[in-house]
Amino acid sequence: MNVADSELVASILNTKGNQIVNKIADADVILFNTCSVRQHAEDRVLGRISNEMSRKKEKDVKIGVIGCMAQRLGKKLNKLNSKIDFVVGVDQYKQLPQIINPRNDNLDFESKTAVNDDEIYEDIYPLHTGELNAFVTIMRGCNNFCSYCIVPYTRGRERSRPIDDILKEIKKTGERGFKDITLLGQNVNSYQYNNINFAELLRQVNKIETIERIRFVTSHPKDLSDEVIQVMAESDKVCEHLHLALQSGDNAILKRMNRGYTAEHFLNITKKLRKAMPEIAITTDVIAGFPGETNSQFQKTYDLMKNIEFDYAFTFKYSPRKGTKAAEFKDQIDEKIRLERLQKLIKLQEEITLKKYREQIGKTKEIYVEQVSKKSDAEMAGKSRDFKITVFPGDKSLIGKFVKVKITDAVGWTLKGKII
Ligand code: SAH
Ligand code: SF4
Repeated sequence: MNVADSELVASILNTKGNQIVNKIADADVILFNTCSVRQHAEDRVLGRISNEMSRKKEKDVKIGVIGCMAQRLGKKLNKLNSKIDFVVGVDQYKQLPQIINPRNDNLDFESKTAVNDDEIYEDIYPLHTGELNAFVTIMRGCNNFCSYCIVPYTRGRERSRPIDDILKEIKKTGERGFKDITLLGQNVNSYQYNNINFAELLRQVNKIETIERIRFVTSHPKDLSDEVIQVMAESDKVCEHLHLALQSGDNAILKRMNRGYTAEHFLNITKKLRKAMPEIAITTDVIAGFPGETNSQFQKTYDLMKNIEFDYAFTFKYSPRKGTKAAEFKDQIDEKIRLERLQKLIKLQEEITLKKYREQIGKTKEIYVEQVSKKSDAEMAGKSRDFKITVFPGDKSLIGKFVKVKITDAVGWTLKGKII
């Protein structure tokens, strides 16, 4: 999502005569696009911001903070680092050209963080920076208020972009050579524009000729309908891959998280998905050590992950976010226990991922060739429809093409194979 927002900001600035530079040393303005989901993300970016401040000794460079941290902390960021020149929140990006204008001499410290629950940047075509895959924002904000999550506070209310704007952006993207798109939103399944729901949006996107592969993130288990599963199965371009956040395998914890589904419901969806698309890869997010989580509740998460066998899981240690309901719960779990539980989940998932990847050996997969392999110039790397990085002997001329690769090995989270 931050990549997509950076592209949006790049486009807003570009149309006003500014230019993106490749080397940070050449920049007159440096923007940090930030994430507030966990404290760790905030701490890291503060470190990076202070590292770049030394550039101010060499030239008059302005340093600004945008994104969720700007939204969440606003003027307080200036207290954390007094050399920050400006902060601009997620609904105020259209003000950026004015703020960074060199004629804006009296820039002392500026903070623009007004919330605008209508802002969807509908008239802006983002400056897609990749060449092969593009992120397309279909909605902004979130209304779910999961009790641990800062997003509804920083990103405001859920609003869907008009379908015509989305289709126009995807067509333009396709004409520019991007064949693989990812539809983005905090809860894409609740997309609703007039009478168009997410399933219908998928059907329409599937008709765009220049696009070959369609993915979407993130789905919410309470809103993923049978209709969407059916459209996924029927639409040739919609990939056999779904990211569906479990968060916990215990019903009482799920309730306290305000997730709106049970472990049984979640398990049932994974069964339906696998029945409709036997080759589907399901990935997830899980939080370890949510307030009040007992050993046996944690064990339920562990057991459910073992039972479902996700292809991959992003596992997180619970991080209290000020202003959220869960941060106020009195039964916070000791940091050491949170970490221990996290490590157990990581270890379990590593074993499952390796098993899942090994099951691919012998299969022939369609790979969208994206780049030269990081390990060898004689090898290319790309992704399968079920989102597995695959490496095989080949040369650069294959980039941007689809090839059939027979899988011969699985090393960690990478498949190896040969073009057939
Ligand atoms: N809208 C997406 C998630 C966005 S945040 C969804 O609902 O699936 C990405 C992930 O960060 C979440 O799925 C959750 O697992 C994790 N996360 C969010 N807040 C967190 C917190 N306070 N502590 C730890 N992990 C958190
Ligand atoms: Fe956060 Fe829940 Fe919204 Fe996802 S659905 S962004 S976890 S509040």
